[in-house]
Amino acid sequence: MAKIIDGKKIASEVRADIKRRAAEFAAETGVTPGLAVIIVGSDPASKVYVRNKGLACIEAGFKSETIEMDEGTTMDELLAKIEELKADDTIHGILVQLPLPKHLDEKTVINAINPEKDVDAFHPVNTGKIMIGDYDFLPCTPAGVMRLLEESDIDVSGKNCVVVGRSNIVGKPQAMLLLQKNGTVTICHSRTKDLVAECKRADILVVAIGKAKFINADYIKPGAAVIDVGMDRDENGKLCGDVDFESAKEVAGAITPVPGGVGPMTIAMLLTNTLKAAKTHGKR
Ligand code: NAP
Repeated sequence: MAKIIDGKKIASEVRADIKRRAAEFAAETGVTPGLAVIIVGSDPASKVYVRNKGLACIEAGFKSETIEMDEGTTMDELLAKIEELKADDTIHGILVQLPLPKHLDEKTVINAINPEKDVDAFHPVNTGKIMIGDYDFLPCTPAGVMRLLEESDIDVSGKNCVVVGRSNIVGKPQAMLLLQKNGTVTICHSRTKDLVAECKRADILVVAIGKAKFINADYIKPGAAVIDVGMDRDENGKLCGDVDFESAKEVAGAITPVPGGVGPMTIAMLLTNTLKAAKTHGKR
């Protein structure tokens, strides 16, 4: 039976450390880290994420600003709000909650945030820096996965790492981070010919596909570390991951649960990035 990687506990330790470091930084410089989160529309899941991000900021002693904009917000209105936040010296991180309503172009919005305040690390400048290993921020979810591995004493160097999913926000940067830690990395996606065989070679398997309980014990090499990024709903509407936890835990050596695995780490890494932005660019 696998060791369960407790993301909730690790995230709460990271958050406590951030809170302490933010207080020290504020005492030294008078600068309080500030994060602004823009949400457009009323998607219930997005509202929960945004609320949790705001609460996490407040708990860490950060300034938190949540900007709720109507579903019908125009591109010009959204870009004007971003410009306002870019000029605000009390805000060090700007995040626009995705997905946006269909009429708004995500790429234009991501590009409008200045890289120095792009605490999601989605701007092309930041994604490019990740590629060459010279980054200011890491995207929160892949960074959270790396921290979980580190805190669980799972060494990446020389291991076969398989990432299932190639999105710009999870799969691709995840693969780059594993590569930087000297993993031998394979990226799988919907056109991969023999997904079971690819996954079965993995010492470290990271799954980010958005399909409830898709990866079961048949895909897992005995003793592998299985990291489940998925946030899905099962047939009863209950939150679950992309991995069938019950069967996978019988084969894996270590595994993250959903909820309580990668999810809490994402917010912890967002706070990490915001503190870093404040330390690097905060005006004294
Ligand atoms: P996405 O943009 O929809 O990408 C999904 C990826 O999975 C695509 O690359 C797709 O391949 C691949 N895929 C889909 N079905 C597949 C299959 N049957 N076999 C192999 N590959 C398959 O998703 P995302 O934004 O990366 O999110 C993935 C999951 O992570 C979702 O459940 C999301 O909610 C969750 N998530 C969690 C957090 C967190 O904080 N825990 C953060 C972000 C996302 P193609 O490219 O070929 O289409």
